[in-house]
Amino acid sequence: MAFTLPELPYAYDALAPHIDAQTMEIHHSKHHQGYVNKLNAAVEEAELEGKSLEKLLKKASENAGIRNNGGGHYNHSLFWSILSPDGGGRPYGSLAKGIKESFGSFKLFKEEFAKAAATRFGSGWAWLGVRRKKLVICTTPNQDNPLMDVAECSCKPILGLDVWEHAYYLNYQNKRGEYINSFFEVVDWKKVRENYDVAMGLKK
Ligand code: MN
Repeated sequence: MAFTLPELPYAYDALAPHIDAQTMEIHHSKHHQGYVNKLNAAVEEAELEGKSLEKLLKKASENAGIRNNGGGHYNHSLFWSILSPDGGGRPYGSLAKGIKESFGSFKLFKEEFAKAAATRFGSGWAWLGVRRKKLVICTTPNQDNPLMDVAECSCKPILGLDVWEHAYYLNYQNKRGEYINSFFEVVDWKKVRENYDVAMGLKK
């Protein structure tokens, strides 16, 4: 079974003005599709068909094509899934409690996450993830992610933010900080909470 591009659960223009339609369309239909195509080619060449994406990522150090494109596929699939035109606001329930325990408050979490995303040099990702039943913030370069054997920060990601210029340049140019602030307006905290509950073993 080859990997396929997931359909977005909303229209390309649904996240505007926070993320504009043209950026969404190019990002999903060109960039993400490109990672999927190259991942399938790399998997075929390495004769690793049938392995799950998470299994492949655990051995990312062994294959640059799988590292870059498997990471690209995983990271973007998570990214699309935690965005929503009905997003924004604050987390609630188990996730709100977890954020308070790990970061002190939602406001402090947002500040720490925004700082991590803003200071990731060059292309990469900022993550909120679960490590040993605690929430952590970390960043990775390029298309790496915390599931890979090469990652300096190991965790189960529940929310990711793409800080490659291709994710924001059309609308925000060099103003990554404004893009990060806008991202919080479209985060689907219901979905992030589901991811949290699964990562914590509270829910299957
Ligand atoms: Mn991207």
